[in-house]
Amino acid sequence: MRDEDLQRAAMMLHHRKAGLAQGDPIAAPIVMSSAYHLPQVQAGGHSYTRAGNPTWDEVEAQLTLLEDAPSLAFPSGMAAISAALMACVQGGGRIVLPSDGYYVTRVFADHFLRPLGVDVVFLPAKDYGAADFSGAAVVYIESPTNPALDVIDISAVAARARAAGAKVIVDNTTMTPLLQRPLDMGADLVVAADTKAPAGHGDVLFGHVAGRDAALMARVADWRRMSGAIPSPFDAWLVHRGLETLELRLSRMCASAGEIARRLQGHKALLALRYLGLPDDPDHDLARRQMAGFGFLIGMTFADEARAERFLSRCPMIAQATSFGGVHTSGERRARWGDHVPLGFIRLSVGIEPIEPLWVAISSAMID
Ligand SMILES: *Cc1c(COP(=O)(O)O)cnc(C)c1O
Repeated sequence: MRDEDLQRAAMMLHHRKAGLAQGDPIAAPIVMSSAYHLPQVQAGGHSYTRAGNPTWDEVEAQLTLLEDAPSLAFPSGMAAISAALMACVQGGGRIVLPSDGYYVTRVFADHFLRPLGVDVVFLPAKDYGAADFSGAAVVYIESPTNPALDVIDISAVAARARAAGAKVIVDNTTMTPLLQRPLDMGADLVVAADTKAPAGHGDVLFGHVAGRDAALMARVADWRRMSGAIPSPFDAWLVHRGLETLELRLSRMCASAGEIARRLQGHKALLALRYLGLPDDPDHDLARRQMAGFGFLIGMTFADEARAERFLSRCPMIAQATSFGGVHTSGERRARWGDHVPLGFIRLSVGIEPIEPLWVAISSAMID
């Protein structure tokens, strides 16, 4: 992480201080109220929780600091992604989406935007670099992609997309604002599933949209208020608590992932290994240029489905689950969801377990 990112993470831990009065709680309170004392609408303040809630304010203050841009909280990553897309698309307009990114985003575009007359174009992440964006209303980027970990040159693609008149949306879930800053590379909106590393404990779904274009963010806020896709105050509180340790957890997770990937190199049980921090990874140089760390995800390809499943079930320190970024190391064979990866491909998300016991658990599960 760069000095500015560490500074932001440190400031985030004290974001409430300036607003505290004598006797106020240091920890953010959970405010469970649907409505607020409102004798006069004109006097401002909170009115009704579909429009705003004090516990969302707390988590949005943290996200706004981390993103260095106004941020809006959503009840899941998909709620944030659909809000950003709905704020940007128009009937007849074209949107370009990665064909190998998070699959629910693709299905959402296919099942809900296409029938509204949106021209949905899917493109492999590797082809973004040379693609022609003329006529596109939205260019949607995911980098590194989940699960294959392909990296898109965000600055270059955003510059070409904006020159063509498109809005640029970046899904930054796999990196978080501490490891990658798409808004500084020309994105109009960042979307993320805070379900993953930001909340970090596998007990809540959450998401956010961040952006510096006030008119566009106002549309995102309107979408949230009118569609009613709002987070619960309790969930916001869990994410607030999770974000306080994000920098600490990410440091451990990325360091362990780097070390485990290094030790796995050349392992005879693997047909392929992907970690962006390995110097011979095809996207290593680009990742080094645009990311402040190489993340906590490792792609492991076993010879076949049976060997991959045997590894997952044998390893006592890999949660077999379809999520990532949490405190527990987790892994899954992504082809079981139809992702375009080999049958033996596992997305391993390295958690915060002390590295040596974790390495022993992983390496002993790989012996046939
Ligand atoms: C998990 C994920 C999402 C969706 O987040 P939910 O909170 O599950 O709705 C979106 N994009 C990426 C890259 C993800 O990994």
